[in-house]
Amino acid sequence: MAPSTLEDLIASGVRGQRVFVRADLNVPLSGDGIGDDTRIRASLPTLRRLGAAGARIVLASHLGRPKGEAKANLSLHPVARRLAELLGRPVAFAPDCVGAEVEAAVQALGDGEFLMLENLRYHAGEEKNDSEFARQLARLADVYVNDAFGTSHRAHASTVGMVEHVGRVAAGDLLRSELEHLDVILHPERPLLCLLGGAKVSDKLAVLEALAPHADVLAIGGAMAYTFLAARGEPTGESLVEADRVDEARRVVAAAEAAGRKLLLPVDHVIAQRLEAAVPTRVEKSIPDGWMGLDIGPETAAIYAAEARNAKTVLWNGPMGVFEIDAFAKGTEIVATGVAESAANSVVGGGDSLAAINQLSLGDKIGHLSTGGGASLEYVQGLQLPGVAALERGR
Ligand code: ADP
Ligand code: MG
Repeated sequence: MAPSTLEDLIASGVRGQRVFVRADLNVPLSGDGIGDDTRIRASLPTLRRLGAAGARIVLASHLGRPKGEAKANLSLHPVARRLAELLGRPVAFAPDCVGAEVEAAVQALGDGEFLMLENLRYHAGEEKNDSEFARQLARLADVYVNDAFGTSHRAHASTVGMVEHVGRVAAGDLLRSELEHLDVILHPERPLLCLLGGAKVSDKLAVLEALAPHADVLAIGGAMAYTFLAARGEPTGESLVEADRVDEARRVVAAAEAAGRKLLLPVDHVIAQRLEAAVPTRVEKSIPDGWMGLDIGPETAAIYAAEARNAKTVLWNGPMGVFEIDAFAKGTEIVATGVAESAANSVVGGGDSLAAINQLSLGDKIGHLSTGGGASLEYVQGLQLPGVAALERGR
């Protein structure tokens, strides 16, 4: 059963109630400011609706990896300031996320007002899903809303532990929208094309194994392609090959074959002798000793882009090359353009993949940009997300 929605919640009344919203405001930082505020913007609809309905909003998130200690450079205070600008409303800030002082700040909230808590991961109990820490969080809430899609694959105190202690629970608009868009990948209009790239086979092995028999076409790029090419016995030079994953790569290929699916690997490569901006590059079908593959070549990019145009549904996670360097960005650009121009319903996830799409200003031509890389990959494997399961139990 799907979790209760924000509509259900607001219809049953939230005025004057303390609504604890777990958002994912884990934004990239640059210097002492916010690098990219996409995740803050994505959280606005839920916050605006709850504010307009007169809820007293207690907003919680993690930021970075403070590992259970208060680290001043990972304070959420700058995020609260940016949120206030975007909302056009004051956002009070609590110096911690649990304890007497925080409880008093929550009690002081008026209807429609916002209080943001300090970084949940300043407490080790958050990631350990410690039951006492979960109870302390729950003391701040009459109602619990999970809008933190990007953290919903983690069973933490704020995503799972506290949920059973709060009487009324619901999914926020962002969480619900993410699940609806990703359901399209689980039940696709075919052909379904899955484009997987990025750095490592080991990061994405589970999703490769799940998608190989499910996708009509699985097209592999990025560094992970070289582990697959090595599995096939092709020369890979100095490319990033995970020697301990070659067997797994073979299994993925066999799973696709057994299911009668198409698994595509690069047929040409942009190669260089070092991973640097101004090095000489060549395009080759086979990678010589001493050279490394740093992008898919033009023929491969054209094949993958044509598959995107032919598909009815596209899932893309992971750049096709080292897109951060212009000389190795072309493959990602050609494939991204193919996805953008395709009439297919498209979903793109992953931090670097979104950065590549934004760098190319193609965001508004993609069906859905997922705010949660890891969570979206777990969901499209058909796995239960612990944060979502907790909401379903609390319904
Ligand atoms: P996402 O964040 O979208 O999930 P990943 O983090 O898995 O993507 O991978 C992105 C990284 O992979 C980028 O930093 C990119 O430079 C790197 N990458 C892609 N292709 C290659 C390659 N051929 N060799 C080395 N690194 C690569
Ligand atoms: Mg990444």
